[in-house]
Amino acid sequence: MALVVHKYGGTSVGSIEKIRSVAKKVAKVRDEGNLVIVVVSAMSGETNKLVAMANEMTSMPDEREYDALISTGEQITSTLLAMALNSMGYPAVSFQGYQIKIVTDSAFTKARIQRIDADNLRKELKAGKIITVSGFQGVDEAGNVTTLGRGGSDTTAVAIAAALKADECIIYTDVDGVYTADPNICPNARKLDRVTYEEMLEMASLGAKVLQIRSVEFGMKYNVPIRVKSTFVENEGTLVAKEEDKVEAPLVSGVAYDKNEAKITVVGIPDRPGIASKLFTPISEANINVDMIVQNISAEGHTDLTFTVPKSDFKKALEIVKKIAKDIEARNVVADENIAKVSVIGVGMRSHSGIAARMFDLLSKEGINIMMISTSEIKVSCVIDTKYTELAVRVLHDGFGLGK
Ligand code: ADP
Ligand code: ASP
Ligand code: MG
Repeated sequence: MALVVHKYGGTSVGSIEKIRSVAKKVAKVRDEGNLVIVVVSAMSGETNKLVAMANEMTSMPDEREYDALISTGEQITSTLLAMALNSMGYPAVSFQGYQIKIVTDSAFTKARIQRIDADNLRKELKAGKIITVSGFQGVDEAGNVTTLGRGGSDTTAVAIAAALKADECIIYTDVDGVYTADPNICPNARKLDRVTYEEMLEMASLGAKVLQIRSVEFGMKYNVPIRVKSTFVENEGTLVAKEEDKVEAPLVSGVAYDKNEAKITVVGIPDRPGIASKLFTPISEANINVDMIVQNISAEGHTDLTFTVPKSDFKKALEIVKKIAKDIEARNVVADENIAKVSVIGVGMRSHSGIAARMFDLLSKEGINIMMISTSEIKVSCVIDTKYTELAVRVLHDGFGLGK
């Protein structure tokens, strides 16, 4: 008997009707003789509603309460799905993160899974039950409910598949696989049959939200092949797995964008050793991930430092930075939330030059101004005005010959 872990995202469980049809799909998998664990997201839009309520209540919600609140969307879907299955004559039982136990650290809103005590799950599987699991949530050592970051149900699924050594891990979503660019804004995008963990990691970290980055990290670490499929259309989807024996890697394999970052500039900082550390240590201690950093050349003993942080941490970061700016006698702090990061990705870049120059050329031809640039071995990213995001993605996608 094979053990399968299937995950359904928000749109797939977005209504009572949709939960019923997921129940039917799950029942079929059970009928085929499998042990089944189904991880579900909250109904689409539900987590956003909860976030909005927290922000309406107070400008800086307490993080413990915030996580306890925004984790509740998943409790609704996992329990409804179990009810649907039970009513169809398929014994099912729902589990919350703390019931399993999915133990995480205490970094609220972006907790990391440390271990999974899956004995409860094993017992119920043995008793012939289908298990439904609330994605996105865990519990820390002190018993507080934590959440795994937006899109975290993917990570719940892959982590459970790894912990139970499942035979299959499928992420069902509203697109039928991983594409060369977001198919919802780039009509020309091509579906990929296979992507390496490495490329998917890069795409996810650059904004392709089809898989949460940590789910790919788990997959890679524990060698869990992840298949991305559509809930609504039947086809093979995309397999995310180890690199196969080398066919020549494409130069550029995808384009990604991310509108979830904001930019902070500290203007007129006295240019002396230790300043960067004074600025970034408290930010890192507040568990805020800084992405890009650019420091200007110094003029008359002063310099400017610009960096990006997730929008969800923007207020917190700005508050910290304003305080430090005062201490270090910087002239001003300027913030900009209307930015987007567009990136081109490809393992083939390692051995080729000219990708960055080509990217800048394509953007400039459309009159798109580049505010920040960062490169790694296999990607080039540019920060631009958010209103040009869709245009930039299409232009880069076609300019690098990725279209159909
Ligand atoms: P779910 O609710 O099922 O978790 P998400 O909205 O988190 O679904 O992820 C699926 C979405 O990811 C798609 O609807 C698509 O707009 C977006 N996406 C971004 N980049 C890509 C890509 N390269 N390939 C496929 N989908 C992508
Ligand atoms: N419901 C959570 C979110 O919207 C987690 C998820 O869908 O994976 O981010
Ligand atoms: Mg998702």
